[in-house]
Amino acid sequence: MKLVILDRDGVINRDSANFIKSPNEWVALPGSLDAIALLNQSGFRVAVATNQSGINRGLFDMATLNSIHEKMNRELAAVGGRIDAIFYCPHAADDHCRCRKPDVAMVEDIAKRFAVELHGIPAVGDALRDLQAFAAVGCQPILVLSGKGEATLAAAKADADLALPDNTWVCADLAEAVQRIIASPHSG
Ligand SMILES: [Mg+2]
Ligand SMILES: [Zn+2]
Repeated sequence: MKLVILDRDGVINRDSANFIKSPNEWVALPGSLDAIALLNQSGFRVAVATNQSGINRGLFDMATLNSIHEKMNRELAAVGGRIDAIFYCPHAADDHCRCRKPDVAMVEDIAKRFAVELHGIPAVGDALRDLQAFAAVGCQPILVLSGKGEATLAAAKADADLALPDNTWVCADLAEAVQRIIASPHSG
């Protein structure tokens, strides 16, 4: 089975410094839903791993998160795409959980759910903490320059402490990342 792991905000939908707190605030990035549909058509299952600390900050509740994901799934279905599982961390950084990226429990749970080895699994994010979590478990880290991606890349170039994990692919957006994933000899 082929699997791809995606961060949500800044990869699939527009990011917001004020959190995505309602379905109205969830707006797909151009081309991202078609890119997911293309992954499905190419035999990949797709799992999302997303930090949603807005829940524990009291900015929105689980029911709202579910409605946001219903909107995402509905828009995806309209273009023939499907996300097979959404894993989220509701905690804030000071909750000291093990699931919030850059920690790895969320990604490990995805591996258990799908019974896959994480080594070499393509994993796409726009923030350094995404790439750190993915790289720590042996996934192929892929930075997209949408969302926080441009800032992540600029910071990596300016500060060695913020460097991207070794062998990180850098792609303009999810559409470009998916083209590269599909073309990769390791993903067949
Ligand atoms: Mg993000
Ligand atoms: Zn957590």
